[in-house]
Amino acid sequence: MKLDIITPYDSEVKVYKIKFKNLTNLSVGGGTIESAMSPIDLPIAKREAVISHTGNILLLPYIPSSTLKGVLRSKYEEYNFEQGGNSLISFRELLRILKDVTDLKFNDKLEIKEKIIDPLLQDFLESSLYDVNIESLEVTGRDGISGLIDSVLDGVRMPTNWSSCISYVDGLKCEFPMPRYKLSILKSLAVEKYPCKVCKYFGASGYEGRIIVFDALPVSKYLINSSTHNAINRFTGAAANKKLYDIEHLEPGTTFLTFIVVETKNKDDEFIDWLSNKLKNSYLIMGKRSTIGYGEVTIESVEEVNEEVNAEQELENSALLTNLHNDLVEAVNKFLRGRSNGQGSDRAQ
Ligand SMILES: [Zn+2]
Repeated sequence: MKLDIITPYDSEVKVYKIKFKNLTNLSVGGGTIESAMSPIDLPIAKREAVISHTGNILLLPYIPSSTLKGVLRSKYEEYNFEQGGNSLISFRELLRILKDVTDLKFNDKLEIKEKIIDPLLQDFLESSLYDVNIESLEVTGRDGISGLIDSVLDGVRMPTNWSSCISYVDGLKCEFPMPRYKLSILKSLAVEKYPCKVCKYFGASGYEGRIIVFDALPVSKYLINSSTHNAINRFTGAAANKKLYDIEHLEPGTTFLTFIVVETKNKDDEFIDWLSNKLKNSYLIMGKRSTIGYGEVTIESVEEVNEEVNAEQELENSALLTNLHNDLVEAVNKFLRGRSNGQGSDRAQ
């Protein structure tokens, strides 16, 4: 069986305009410099912007493209997990398959232990409680916990169709160059395409994906607020005395605008189908404090853009128009012009 390595290409680009709105408080942080400069403990991400009509400078809240790309990646991962839901195998079955791989050298087995077996088991058990026999890739337990180990080995399920690699286990993520032990695993799992459907678009270590996500900027009025929280003592679970910190957030109801550029070559592109048909009206969770309900966001619209975009037209409240809005739109228009001239795109990030 031949493993088909999907190579990135830039034969055609499609540009999508996405608008989303936060339904609850939204607190997406920025870089460390912003944190160091703000009087608030956990400030939201802001960039200095010049208001076009007045020349005044303001700090404009925004959602960094890296945050947005991460959130969309999880959502697409989730979708692919659901799609490939009937070809899951258990951790034990994976070990059984690995045992049967004949071309695994000792070093490959050591890597499998360190990068796959240990990280998965350590989620459930302390490493002193189990033993891995590297030669046979057999897991045994200490003192009456074999049953627990059995249930972990049976219970942790993973997809075998590689529709979405397992991003929380280092050894099961897509990566380039591909270590030899992974090639053996992929072969035994009869994987035909690499990287997985998610990394194909969102990229993996050593692999450039096929989408570019831009920073999202507010296009409606917004209100920045902050609230004070108790730090929780992690030993007692009680509120730590006098350990208060404040966290900045945007009040619900801010509409953001962003663009995604997708490189594609066929008409039935699965990602484009997901983007234009499944993403609209769906909910995303973004930023800090999601455990107390922060960061609920709904996708209001996803539209393919075919003509050049006008920054002023995109803004409901044109008093907000800034150089950042103009820069965003100009960067996107470059892709649109490149497409109509039949030239290859030059990547913005
Ligand atoms: Zn992957």
